[in-house]
Amino acid sequence: MAASGRSFIIAGAGISGMTMALALAKFGATVVVLERSATVQEFGAGLQISPNARRVLDRLGLGEAIERASLEPQALDVYPQHGQHPLVSMELGAIMRERFGAPYAVMHRADLADLLYKACRRFANIDIVFGVRNWDVVSHARGVTAAIDEASGQSRTTRAQGFIGADGVHSQTRLGVLDGPAAQYRKRIAWRTLVPTAALTGQIAADRVSVFFGTGFHLVCYPLPHRNQVNLALFMPDDIRMEGEQPSLKNSGARVEAIMTAASRGWTAWPMYTVEASVWHQDNIGLIGDAAHAMVPFQAQGAAMGIEDAATLAPLLMGTESAETAFYRYAKMRQPRVRRIAALSAENGRIFHMGWPLSVARNTVMRLQGPRAHLDRLAWVYSHDVGDSPAT
Ligand SMILES: Cc1cc2nc3c(=O)[nH]c(=O)nc-3n(C[C@H](O)[C@H](O)[C@H](O)COP(=O)(O)OP(=O)(O)OC[C@H]3O[C@@H](n4cnc5c(N)ncnc54)[C@H](O)[C@@H]3O)c2cc1C
Repeated sequence: MAASGRSFIIAGAGISGMTMALALAKFGATVVVLERSATVQEFGAGLQISPNARRVLDRLGLGEAIERASLEPQALDVYPQHGQHPLVSMELGAIMRERFGAPYAVMHRADLADLLYKACRRFANIDIVFGVRNWDVVSHARGVTAAIDEASGQSRTTRAQGFIGADGVHSQTRLGVLDGPAAQYRKRIAWRTLVPTAALTGQIAADRVSVFFGTGFHLVCYPLPHRNQVNLALFMPDDIRMEGEQPSLKNSGARVEAIMTAASRGWTAWPMYTVEASVWHQDNIGLIGDAAHAMVPFQAQGAAMGIEDAATLAPLLMGTESAETAFYRYAKMRQPRVRRIAALSAENGRIFHMGWPLSVARNTVMRLQGPRAHLDRLAWVYSHDVGDSPAT
């Protein structure tokens, strides 16, 4: 693509930042990405990629590589903690492609980060600067100017049309530049580990996502066949007891206990934060991804929202005269959807963790649902298409 004469600076080479870089570079923009870490860093755990996000990644040319590194689960089975049979099996697999035009996949997040990074490297107009010690940015009539302290100790000054903060939940851009709100701690922890597939034979289906609902917790398990591992994510309040290196789940049902016994090591705790920022931009500086709207991960849509943000904002930045106008239009377009998804995620957290007797009513309703009922309920999430043409 011929150079557009436009240039942008992005803080953060996470999933949102790298998707943003690709989406801009595709239209010929020159992009500098400032990353605090020394390398691309994604914690070793799984990620569900729903059709609304996959559609964007496919358009960026990543579809085949994702297909090679991911699994398309046939279904998502929801079990009550003490039950042997699913309350409901939510059909995924082919129906997702048929209905939403893109698959529902699970993969290792480091593999997605690696694919994004390699795709960025193929663009001469993307420069990812790792190990950035500090940066400062000011907005002015002609765009932005950023002062950057590099890993080597050298400093440089870079000008661009706009600055995009994709620097995560505790975003320096939101807190330090836009004077936005601090992230709110939700008093829940996501515990994550990876277990060799063989250790869970007979406990976890090889081609499905298995979710266990318990009182005050839920456990999500899915295979990552390319790694010969199973991803486990356990969501609980932060005041639980520990048994050695892992959270204690006594009396949580035979199957959950068997899984926890097999998965006795490698658990890492991720405290859950949310970001509720009503302002996502000021002048020529704006926010995307968790920096703008971190949410609880109970609908598996946080990264998907960052990916959608990038695909929405890039054409606006390329097709609108000023970055300020592009950020304004982007926030107007994105905020209603992101808020609705954040609310759905929070509501799921309440429903998934219900104790007796509410859990009885919940289980009855879920049993009565057909295998496709969830698709009808969530069609608005998965069918969303942000499009990909430069705005005029
Ligand atoms: C347990 C759990 C499970 C989840 N599962 C899913 C799922 O299945 N599907 C899904 O869509 N979402 C899921 N999410 C949400 C998803 O992980 C996040 O929404 C997503 O990773 C956010 O990406 P990001 O690029 O916006 O931010 P981050 O991943 O936080 O990336 C920010 C980047 O900015 C860098 N950085 C930070 N500060 C600075 C700075 N000052 N200067 C320069 N660089 C900086 C960081 O080093 C990092 O590389 C889950 C979350 C959790 C906790």
